Amino acid sequence: MAYKFIDNYRERGARKKLVELLESRGISDKNVLEAIKKVPRHFFFDETFWKQAYKDIAFPIGDGQTISQPYTVAYQSEILHVKPGDSVLEIGTGSGYQTCILMELGAKVFTIERQENIYNRTIKVLPIMGYKPTFFLGDGSKGIPQHAPFDKIIVTAGAPFVPQILLKQLKIGGVLVIPVGDETSQKMETYIRINENDFDKIQLDTFRFVPLVGDQAW
Ligand code: SAM
Repeated sequence: MAYKFIDNYRERGARKKLVELLESRGISDKNVLEAIKKVPRHFFFDETFWKQAYKDIAFPIGDGQTISQPYTVAYQSEILHVKPGDSVLEIGTGSGYQTCILMELGAKVFTIERQENIYNRTIKVLPIMGYKPTFFLGDGSKGIPQHAPFDKIIVTAGAPFVPQILLKQLKIGGVLVIPVGDETSQKMETYIRINENDFDKIQLDTFRFVPLVGDQAW
């Protein structure tokens, strides 16, 4: 893929329109909308496909994976309630777009990807854009115990169940956001750790993600 890191008035205008669309679809967190307005999503696309970058669609990034739909990224970011300084574990780095949004929200991000090609591309692209999360290559369904506990955990692939090992890596008061279901559709779920053993669970809207593949997954 030939990347080009130029952000001109055309792309900035398209981003503003995308933000208006997301607001009309119910995204209301001003910080999330500001982050979407700031991160050049077309930087994750070959120049041939720049026009697709500001449509509210998921798009192939190679190796059978996708950059998530902007609405999905905004939705997950909103319900994660990121506060500046939060340590956030992101499972499924993919293109790194969601990673950039989390960093714009002030998070310290630990992000893990299991596919080597995607990992190798993203660890090159993000620093060029000025984003320097801590990258890991491996199976994120088991979390990253050596960096736990986290304030927030976000899973960006569809899980068959909620890995208990992830719940254990949340701080008390921490939040896990994870899509759970079968291969064709998943319900977005949030888990808030209220004490050592108890979690408040909320089930939200239906989405369609690529599968979370691993030891505690498909
Ligand atoms: N947030 C990403 C973005 O905006 O590009 C979305 C990436 S895509 C929907 C989901 C990613 O999760 C894929 O890159 C896939 O390889 C990765 N993935 C699936 N199972 C995984 C696992 N067990 N550990 C880490 N990454 C995983």
